[in-house]
Amino acid sequence: MHETTVTGENTSPGESRTLRGLGVSPGAAAGPVCRMAGPPRLPDPATVPPDDRAAELRTAERALRETSAALSALAAKAAEPAAREILEAQSLIAADPGLSDMVGDNVGAGMTAAHAIAAACAHHREALLAVGGYIAERAADLDDIGNRAIAAALGLPMPGVPDPGHPFVLVAEDLSPADTATLDPAMVLALVTEKGGPTSHTAILARARGLPAVVACPDAAALEDGEMVAVDGVLGEVRTAVGEDEAAAIRRRAAGERERLQASGGPGRTADGHPVKLLLNIGSAADLESGFSAEGVGLFRTEFLFLDRREAPGLDEQVAAYEAVFRALPGDRVIVRTLDAGTDKPLPFLTLPDEINPALGIRGLRVDRVRPGVLDTQLDAIAAAARSSGVRPWVMAPMVTTVAEATAFARMARARGITDVGAMVEVPAAALRADRLLAELDFLSIGTNDLSQYTCAADRQHGELADLLDPWQPALLRLIAECAAAGERAGKPVGVCGEAAADPLLAAVLVGLGVTSLSMSAPGIPAVRESLAGRTLEECREAARSALEADDPAEARRSLRGDH
Ligand code: PEP
Ligand code: MG
Repeated sequence: MHETTVTGENTSPGESRTLRGLGVSPGAAAGPVCRMAGPPRLPDPATVPPDDRAAELRTAERALRETSAALSALAAKAAEPAAREILEAQSLIAADPGLSDMVGDNVGAGMTAAHAIAAACAHHREALLAVGGYIAERAADLDDIGNRAIAAALGLPMPGVPDPGHPFVLVAEDLSPADTATLDPAMVLALVTEKGGPTSHTAILARARGLPAVVACPDAAALEDGEMVAVDGVLGEVRTAVGEDEAAAIRRRAAGERERLQASGGPGRTADGHPVKLLLNIGSAADLESGFSAEGVGLFRTEFLFLDRREAPGLDEQVAAYEAVFRALPGDRVIVRTLDAGTDKPLPFLTLPDEINPALGIRGLRVDRVRPGVLDTQLDAIAAAARSSGVRPWVMAPMVTTVAEATAFARMARARGITDVGAMVEVPAAALRADRLLAELDFLSIGTNDLSQYTCAADRQHGELADLLDPWQPALLRLIAECAAAGERAGKPVGVCGEAAADPLLAAVLVGLGVTSLSMSAPGIPAVRESLAGRTLEECREAARSALEADDPAEARRSLRGDH
């Protein structure tokens, strides 16, 4: 379904080729490719003759110095505090005398600079792994430092997000959350990755930053540095051999479209005036500065405050972070989601044991079973920020599965004076018991990213299973319908805050199913607003009926295109 296709018989240089992947963040961009270098390959080991060892040692020491300096420069530029902290720590490790002493010993024994660095890093890595727990999680840092220093010793480009000094289209095999956090939005025009899926955190962060992105595009492996490409984040296409004039025209059009959409505003409504709140998904107060108008925050992902931290942020730091969001709020609603740790959002300070099946393990609200206290502090901080800012936040827990969990969470939140308590519906068991959950709670918010993964048993990061993660899957829509109907019966709000809410056509279906709010990354809001404004509520209901009747996502989409 999502295979890469190459159009045109002749693919010699100068011929335009179209590579196809999955468009996961809308928008168009054009510019030169800059590839993210992968880890360097070590050459075969060789013994350095004694007379050459002093020069080899200078190479190794220079490589470590350059690595430390590069990491510290990245830290200085990192926008997110969590990314800054991890990069600063890595820079210190690269400059650590213990590491350089061991590298020196290895060179003294006849190893090349690259092998001496590799062996020293492997030694320290083993030592960290032997300690276990939280310390062992730092082993990945040493891999990163080692790869950078080996590349420097071999005269190869350093792995990590490149910095060519001009705007570029970033092409990579895949991006880690830390890579994505160090992206400079003034320089990166678009993202293209060979791997990744529609609900991966790379995709979510790209949308949050308004960066056009195409993932699951295996032929991107053949793109070369400097090649001019045009990226279409809606169609999921990357076109090569784009001329300078055309690239400039694409950039002008994209800027014009962005301005037009940014200028649109007003509350979400169907053509006949049925209100549907359009809300923002954010990770911090900085995400409220996008300039897109919205009616509040439908999903405040608080774990971004905790990501890559060596220690849990304390009560005061949390109060300040929540207050910053409450005070900068557009509209009158904010829904705070309590910490959603585990699986694709590992939080080192929790020192959770490795699991064979982390997506089915201790994650989300379940962390409270094994690390009690973290959730209590967070709820204390949310309640304190509510009091000091005068804002009344709605608070929900991720990964709620049973009525007992919902009841326990509601008790904890209400004990602190939080009046509007809800749950995310991300597990089919919760959707099937929506009536009973709503007897305990004030609202539900459907997380379609995880609900897709658990409904179709397909890892949300799995590029090759992207068709199963398609939010138009009729089985997923049926679960959403269950929740929305339960909300209507109880007279309580049921929103959608997964990325499905940002698909303008699907948004109409969701409203037809009875969903009362749609929450998404800021750049998605204007197109959803336009789509709802073009349909009556009855047309949305008709669209929902056809989508539920469809056999597969393609038929569901076709049925809606016929309707309008
Ligand atoms: C979801 O699962 O749909 C969701 C919104 O949560 P996250 O993407 O943060 O897991
Ligand atoms: Mg989720």
